[in-house]
Amino acid sequence: MYDYLIVGAGLYGATVARELTDVGKKILVIDKRNHIAGNVYTEKVEGINVHIYGPHIFHTNDKTVWSYVQRFAEFNRFTNSPLANYKGELYSLPFNMYTFNKMWGAVTPEEASTKIEEQRKAVGIVKPKNLEEQAITLVGTDIYEKLIKEYTQKQWGRPCDQLPTYIIKRLPVRLTFDNNYFNALYQGIPVGGYTKMVNNMLSGVDVRTGVDFFEHKDELMKNAKTVIYTGSIDAYFNYSLGNLEYRSVCFENETLNKPNFQGNAVVNYTDAETPWTRIIEHKWFEFGKDEEGKNLPKTVISREYSSEWKPGLEPYYPVNDDKNGKLYEAYKELAAKELNVIFGGRLGEYKYYDMDQVIAMALEKVKTL
Ligand SMILES: Cc1cc2nc3c(=O)[nH]c(=O)nc-3n(C[C@H](O)[C@H](O)[C@H](O)COP(=O)(O)OP(=O)(O)OC[C@H]3O[C@@H](n4cnc5c(N)ncnc54)[C@H](O)[C@@H]3O)c2cc1C
Repeated sequence: MYDYLIVGAGLYGATVARELTDVGKKILVIDKRNHIAGNVYTEKVEGINVHIYGPHIFHTNDKTVWSYVQRFAEFNRFTNSPLANYKGELYSLPFNMYTFNKMWGAVTPEEASTKIEEQRKAVGIVKPKNLEEQAITLVGTDIYEKLIKEYTQKQWGRPCDQLPTYIIKRLPVRLTFDNNYFNALYQGIPVGGYTKMVNNMLSGVDVRTGVDFFEHKDELMKNAKTVIYTGSIDAYFNYSLGNLEYRSVCFENETLNKPNFQGNAVVNYTDAETPWTRIIEHKWFEFGKDEEGKNLPKTVISREYSSEWKPGLEPYYPVNDDKNGKLYEAYKELAAKELNVIFGGRLGEYKYYDMDQVIAMALEKVKTL
């Protein structure tokens, strides 16, 4: 008999499992995938830790969470500085003085802000009604046209004038030469990959992978007093009220016989003609200075494609609009009636959470148990 059955070996499940084990509870963790670590899973290919479900950069302002993860991994000092490739022109992201210099030749912050202001005024939008108007109001037309418009359309599968403003409420516009993507106090990648880190979190815990909760539900529930469920909330209720919608992404991985493909971990392709949204070159997350390939003669890249979610695809980004918000609330009411089941994590709560938020929420939840 287990005190807790944890469905999902992602960061939420692993954090809860660690904490409850440490206070003497008997835990079983299951995952329907054949591996632990959920979406932060990394796999070694040619000596490189490949981020199988998309690039993951740990960043946080939460000192408690940062100290917590140090217990399970050593973090390197990776700083996310993505580039935008627009028809072969390269721009620095997020929008900063390097971007403005390349776009307009602006040399001083004053020149850059004058240019942005001019473009904002020329369009004269007072109350933005959609994403296009919101973006132009924030950064002007040139940046919108080259770096936002077609990229966002590829990401969401709809033109920007049909997307809500909330998607880009705040666009970082930096009048400094600072291309660190995140405004976070702490940032890095676990040396040796996320799988190693989650494996350390789950040390001493019973874990079974390749086990789908729904295929063995009765038997599993009979053997546990409480269930902590981190799968999709609508799946738990057999989609009885309808499907919650997601955007999905898929990846085309390729190993190349050269040490350096693009010289950066992440390059976004912001034009409409390129079918992928970005290319990830995984070695740069961990092996910062090996351009000549002395240690790793090969490199692994992933082209990322964005798509509408349909059953069978991985649910990645919840579509937090009104319709889905209401449906989620209805499922939440059903969930409240499941007395010995706790719903958590990004799928259980139908919310986009960063890794640090998921860990913080899991630590909070454990305090209430
Ligand atoms: C493309 C992408 C990039 C991201 N990049 C970043 C980033 O750079 N930085 C950052 O902080 N965050 C990032 N995130 C967010 C991060 O992935 C999440 O915060 C985190 O992985 C969520 O952990 P979780 O445990 O809630 O969910 P998951 O990792 O999804 O774990 C849930 C687990 O439950 C299992 N499961 C589901 N149903 C069942 C079932 N029926 N039976 C058994 N098991 C089941 C699943 O297989 C899965 O392993 C990114 C997300 C995406 C989609």
